[in-house]
Amino acid sequence: MRRTKVVCTLGPSTSSYETVRDMVRDGMDLARINMSHGDRESHRASIDNVRRAAAEIGRPIAVLVDLAGPKIRVGHLDQPIQLEVGETVVMAPEDDARADEIPTTYARLAEEIQEGDVVLLDDGLLELICLDTEGDRTHLRVIRGGELKSRKGINLPLVNVKAPSLTEKDLEDLDFAMEVGVEYVGLSFVRRAEDIVDLKERIGGRALVVAKIEKVQALQAIEEILPETDAVMVARGDLGVELPFERVPLAQKRIVQGANFYGRPVITATQMLESMIEYPRPTRAEASDVANAILDGSDAVMLSGETAVGKYPLQALNALVRIATEIERSGVLERGPRYLTRPGPRSRGGASPREHAVAAATVDAVRSVGAPAIVVITRSGFSARLVSSYRPPVPVFAVTTDDRTYRQLAAVWGVHPVLAEVEEEVTYASLSRVGREAVVAADVGDKGAPVIITAGYPFHLSGSTNTMRVESL
Ligand code: PGA
Ligand code: MN
Repeated sequence: MRRTKVVCTLGPSTSSYETVRDMVRDGMDLARINMSHGDRESHRASIDNVRRAAAEIGRPIAVLVDLAGPKIRVGHLDQPIQLEVGETVVMAPEDDARADEIPTTYARLAEEIQEGDVVLLDDGLLELICLDTEGDRTHLRVIRGGELKSRKGINLPLVNVKAPSLTEKDLEDLDFAMEVGVEYVGLSFVRRAEDIVDLKERIGGRALVVAKIEKVQALQAIEEILPETDAVMVARGDLGVELPFERVPLAQKRIVQGANFYGRPVITATQMLESMIEYPRPTRAEASDVANAILDGSDAVMLSGETAVGKYPLQALNALVRIATEIERSGVLERGPRYLTRPGPRSRGGASPREHAVAAATVDAVRSVGAPAIVVITRSGFSARLVSSYRPPVPVFAVTTDDRTYRQLAAVWGVHPVLAEVEEEVTYASLSRVGREAVVAADVGDKGAPVIITAGYPFHLSGSTNTMRVESL
């Protein structure tokens, strides 16, 4: 039973039902719909495919709608422009840029940029530096040149961009996501904890929020962002442009550690198996990168272009699964003492000291009695995420009566969601029976073996986890 979860971005390479079904069969846990690409029809069709495949194969699959956020781009260019090192160019708002100017989607650029600020184009391939501004025009010198194509991304690592965290398009995409019903909503270019608070207010509990950490500001505010968000993504694509690329590895470790500490699921993303966009096997460096992301403590690893536009989407998924399985089988994940952080006297990440104490005791008890599994009875999924964050050495069977929680938990490390469709009254006895039966049915433990059951009384209150019992399967 694999603990590390796998996120696959769906796109043109994975648009057919058959391919999505094969991905669900082969281990995709969370399907990501990237709102920066594709149209409404393709997004809707992808989500339909995931729901249908999940029902056909009988596995819980979460859907993540990933909002583009305040991404700044080059406007439309009829033809690519050749930028020569040393030449001066002018950037102008896209609605009135002349033919010899570079159009940008961010009309306020000239107001916010200062002399000496760096402007990176096309994932940092091209680099410009601001000389000065004149009205809404920005004058720049080309430091690293090349061909600039239409609609390429612009990163402004030093500029305190004041654009709102949710654009008009994001709000429309969010309406769509709420209308179709998804488990997770991601937000790109998060800068402050308030960006998350605002998004959560709009969602009102209908989905969990993933804060994408890809700005220096977000990295600096990580201690404020983590307690507010439900989950995070180490978005190495943009992070590696906003930060010098050599800082990304340690930033990744810092984000993952913080997420583990606050009990927030963390997805490590981008270029994990990049060469598999073109080739059927990963490079050794990529295999190591995936392994190290798992060893760092990631809940999930993600594929982007590999499954969205690559030639070998299924092979890429299978490669991730093979690497994760090998790491887990070696037992190294169970040895890390840092996975068992002790609860302090203060609440942490929205969980009270009491809840932390129960989660930590659950993991301790597993070791003391040699239990093959944990059963967590959970309504919102919060207690299951908390227990998972202590990285128990055995699978967590999360029993819930809520089908949204059931799918959300598919993305959480070590959690095996169980949907309890109990006929009789929902009681501790009925739900713990469902959990114990699921452990036996999955062949994880034999009848009579000890099992740790964690729950809260009363059931209908979230955040009431206060009970740990040692029972028998
Ligand atoms: P993106 O986010 O693929 O939406 O840009 C991930 C990243 O930047 O790494
Ligand atoms: Mn990004």
